[in-house]
Amino acid sequence: MIGGGIFGLFCALTLADAGKSVVVIDRGPVWSEASAVNAGSLGVQNKLPALVPYTLWSWEIWETLAERLGADIGLRRDGGYKIAMTEAEAERLDAVSMQQKALGLDVRRLTQADLRRTAPWISSDCVAATYSPQDGYANPTLVGPALRRAVERSGVEILDDTAVEEIRSGDRLGVVTRRGEIQASKIAITSGAWSGRLAAMVGVRLPISLDVNMVSVTESARPTIENIVTHARGILTLKQVANGSCLIGGGWQGIGTLENQRKEVSYDQLVHNLRLALRVIPGLERLNVVRSWAGYEGVTPDSLPYLGLLPGHRNIYCAACARGGFTLGPLMGQLLGELISHGETSKPIDIFNPGRFAHVAA
Ligand SMILES: Cc1cc2nc3c(=O)[nH]c(=O)nc-3n(C[C@H](O)[C@H](O)[C@H](O)COP(=O)(O)OP(=O)(O)OC[C@H]3O[C@@H](n4cnc5c(N)ncnc54)[C@H](O)[C@@H]3O)c2cc1C
Repeated sequence: MIGGGIFGLFCALTLADAGKSVVVIDRGPVWSEASAVNAGSLGVQNKLPALVPYTLWSWEIWETLAERLGADIGLRRDGGYKIAMTEAEAERLDAVSMQQKALGLDVRRLTQADLRRTAPWISSDCVAATYSPQDGYANPTLVGPALRRAVERSGVEILDDTAVEEIRSGDRLGVVTRRGEIQASKIAITSGAWSGRLAAMVGVRLPISLDVNMVSVTESARPTIENIVTHARGILTLKQVANGSCLIGGGWQGIGTLENQRKEVSYDQLVHNLRLALRVIPGLERLNVVRSWAGYEGVTPDSLPYLGLLPGHRNIYCAACARGGFTLGPLMGQLLGELISHGETSKPIDIFNPGRFAHVAA
């Protein structure tokens, strides 16, 4: 496994449960990139319709995860509101929620009066909203260490601070790191935003663009916001977590590239993110933001993840770049583990085939 974020660790766990010998190799400490710095939303309403069934399946794993890991992971499933501030956004909200409902999501359209009654902390400027009891969140800083412990308990070896510099394909399959060469019978690229670079090492061009997402956290306040809040245009996620702090995200872009390894907050963009949050929940104006940060997220051309064999290879796999990959990670990792160990998966994965965009370099 090259990459120990949520995709890699769930894949490792599935393989170990199937009796396979597994090594997870990470260039940093495992769980230090997107999986560690994300906003923790486990929204279903904010997923592309094609991903709704997968998000609901992934939630089945989330629901039993605390028990499986034997640890508190800050999981809450109190439902969520998805709001619209304009008539055009309301139309979009309706169109998407109807598609999501047809795919199994429990989602209801609310009138403004419903919204005032059930969530008076949301601004009356919101012209429309939908509610789903199936949205929730977890705490990435609790999930990571607990997952790592479970992975290690299952017999998986984890190599931190071990960047893979070369992948050897063909008869002598293996990876080259500064610690030396590691032989393998199968390799999984679960390297998040870096997965394109790893695929290029075996002659596959895997298109991935880079988002530098930002998240902010406020000082702690009296519990008021009972549900996660998302936006019809995908530009806001908001929740109040157990210690009373509010986490504000929404895919507003920071500054950085994979080359310069910078992940910096863009104050120009952050202002828009925070203003929007204030417009939606005016009570936030009493709170100071105590920290903002940014992290890398890889994005595919159709915003659906890659999951499957790399084209031209029989034993090199990839799972990476889901929009909302913290939510989907447990399922994506598990499906990759099933594919590697049994050659088939419990859920259909054709739409995620890396071959839909990947090319074998000439
Ligand atoms: C700021 C931010 C907020 C987000 N908010 C949410 C949210 O609220 N809800 C949600 O569902 N999703 C959210 N996401 C998306 C989600 O975090 C990611 O989709 C998900 O964590 C990706 O997991 P991963 O395992 O694929 O990648 P990562 O967690 O990035 O792990 C990839 C690993 O590969 C390693 N690696 C890379 N190159 C090499 C190499 N050469 N050798 C060895 N190891 C290597 C890296 O060090 C890294 O540990 C957010 C993302 C960001 C950045």
